[in-house]
Amino acid sequence: MRRLILVVLFVMMGLVMSAAETGPAPALGGYSDEAARLEREWEAKFQAIPSPENLREYNRRMSARPHHVGSAYDKDNAEWILSKFKEWGLDAQIETFEVLFPTPKERAVELVEPTKFAAKLQEPTVAVDPTSSQHDEQLPTYNAYSADGDVTGPLVYVNYGVPDDYEKLERLGVSVKGAIVISRYGASWRGIKPKVAAEHGALGCLIYSDPKDDGYYEGEVFPAGPFRPPDGVQRGSVMDMVIHPGDPLTPGVGATKDAKRLALSEAKVFTKIPTLPISYGDAQPLLAALTGPVAPAEWRGALPITYRLGPGPAKAHLKVKANWDIKTIYDVIVKIPGAVYPDEWIVRGNHHDAWVYGADDPVSAMAAEMEEARGFAALLKQGWKPKRTIIYCAWDGEEEGLLGSTEWAEAHADELRQHAVAYLNTDANGRGYFYAGGSHTLEKFINGVARDITDPEKRIPVWKRRQLQRLAEAESPEEREEARTRPDWRIGALGSGSDYTAFIDHLGVASLNLGYGGEDDGGIYHSIYDDFYWYTHFSDTDFTYGRAMAQTVGTAVMRLADAELLPFDFTSFADTVHKYADDLKKLLKTKQDEASERNRQIEEGVFTATADPKKVFVPPPPEEVAPYLNFAPLDNALDMLTRSAEHYQKAWAKAHENGGATLARASLRTVNAKLIESERRLTSPEGLPGRPWFKHQIYAPGAYTGYGVKTIPGVREAIEQKKWKEADEQMARVGKILEGEAALIDSAASELEKLL
Ligand SMILES: [Zn+2]
Repeated sequence: MRRLILVVLFVMMGLVMSAAETGPAPALGGYSDEAARLEREWEAKFQAIPSPENLREYNRRMSARPHHVGSAYDKDNAEWILSKFKEWGLDAQIETFEVLFPTPKERAVELVEPTKFAAKLQEPTVAVDPTSSQHDEQLPTYNAYSADGDVTGPLVYVNYGVPDDYEKLERLGVSVKGAIVISRYGASWRGIKPKVAAEHGALGCLIYSDPKDDGYYEGEVFPAGPFRPPDGVQRGSVMDMVIHPGDPLTPGVGATKDAKRLALSEAKVFTKIPTLPISYGDAQPLLAALTGPVAPAEWRGALPITYRLGPGPAKAHLKVKANWDIKTIYDVIVKIPGAVYPDEWIVRGNHHDAWVYGADDPVSAMAAEMEEARGFAALLKQGWKPKRTIIYCAWDGEEEGLLGSTEWAEAHADELRQHAVAYLNTDANGRGYFYAGGSHTLEKFINGVARDITDPEKRIPVWKRRQLQRLAEAESPEEREEARTRPDWRIGALGSGSDYTAFIDHLGVASLNLGYGGEDDGGIYHSIYDDFYWYTHFSDTDFTYGRAMAQTVGTAVMRLADAELLPFDFTSFADTVHKYADDLKKLLKTKQDEASERNRQIEEGVFTATADPKKVFVPPPPEEVAPYLNFAPLDNALDMLTRSAEHYQKAWAKAHENGGATLARASLRTVNAKLIESERRLTSPEGLPGRPWFKHQIYAPGAYTGYGVKTIPGVREAIEQKKWKEADEQMARVGKILEGEAALIDSAASELEKLL
């Protein structure tokens, strides 16, 4: 039955593609008409190759046993991936690194007062789910890179444990000094929670998954539905990746065997306090034992209890001890040499390691990456000759701290700075809408790719489906207008949280992060239930979105590899950075208004008059009002950027006239070299204040958001942290960076014009 449906879909897709081919092929950016015609032929051949049956089989194979760093099956998978690449005739090899990877030795969470309770810290077997019973090989539930510790103290509930939550606790007269905080997952990257807790004097940190966020409040729990069961736990790294990701002992250099290593005590990225994740089954008795003020309405989860803040009388004991071992990680690297520009590289990656089985994260997307490689191998045999070198990477150690990609990028930093055109990343894949984030110089390009891929459920271009979703979700007339009329939908900026981080943030390689999702909700993230049973019952059950993913990313790689003129666009980039600058001005104004209003209300006696004398309330102290900052260096640079983007746009349009005769005739090497350089120019060697590893001046993960992006981070974070002098300095620095970028774009435009 399944087979029949797939055959019908396959035939229908063939029809759609041939119908598209019969019309006049729309021009491809960066291609002469003749080259575009050939490219589209190769792309159509490629898109017919990825197969849902193969994706299912790869997924079953890679998720059959736990395969975290250091496990037998992690190495086994890497060798199997290598053997598949070789079987297809590709030039592949494994590159190893030696990294610090702590695994749990002792874990305990107990309620010691007023009653006794010991947390299970164990995810049970589910009868219908065959892999869930392999407890001997499963990595226990823990947060990697938590400090060791054995602490006892009163418990305090801190909501999501982000800085604003502590501000609220202060108003309510609740201190976490000497306490163990219990925080729920969500609202920030998990590593921020123990970091902020420690800054406020807490002794330990528990992180639990509240049913309101991904459990029964959202829907039926596993195995009846996709959501988190009572004992399901989210493992995860709490390495302070906003300082630097990768091996904690070799920041900035590849963790090769003989690399110079820091002593354990010199590493900067461990938590300051012991931290452990727990299930809502284990959290409920702890939270139920708290008294003290009732939690603010928006802090309450979906457990059948009254949420209170504490401290006490609940007293908890938390013990965490790890084996601090060095483990070998296995990156699988494939190289397809370019026929015309072998020294220009298109790099594509996905990780293969998982916390446990990872059928969704990462195997669903790793399988798609393999089908892309199989497709390319087939095309090469048919005579396809990509102009540029294509490098395919299956990373190890992503989950612990982007280890495999960061160490590889650091080990090959000089070559990558010279040769890398772009890096394309995926991490997991599901059912639903196409999403893309990344460098805005590639916004137009990826919109173009999305127009040429068919959505498996709706049989319309995935671009159109995404556009209509934006229209449906728009919250203002302006947003609706933009969704209807802007030729390209906007892509988001990248923070951190996957393997693109070293490429974009550290090396300045233009990057994209791609995937499908939105109809595949669940609560199995980083638990033993993210496995083949769950994926084939609740996510992309027939692997047609896996096929769409392989078609999308493979097409993007081919189109970058074969273009005569690289398809970078600077008008959307300039437009986006303008928006970021406007956001900064609004941010400053809001800060000023809020502080003045607060100070005024303090003077007027608002807080003392409205505080309930029977409840604790600590009025806020007066606040310094932000001074006016000098936006001129930024504004001037933005003007230059806009003009140079328009200049390049004109030259680009001209180069495509007359069937792109210039593109077919001229040597574009020097122009392309400048385009490749364009993302590099957005970095500065000294990096961001306090975290020199992060060199990109337009995008970075936030110091207090983790995965969440901060745009123009040097300035934005200085304003947020009220460092006014630093904000002005950073403004000048970013202005210089953007002036340099504008000059480069201008020279690329002039160079192109010379050839016309
Ligand atoms: Zn992942």
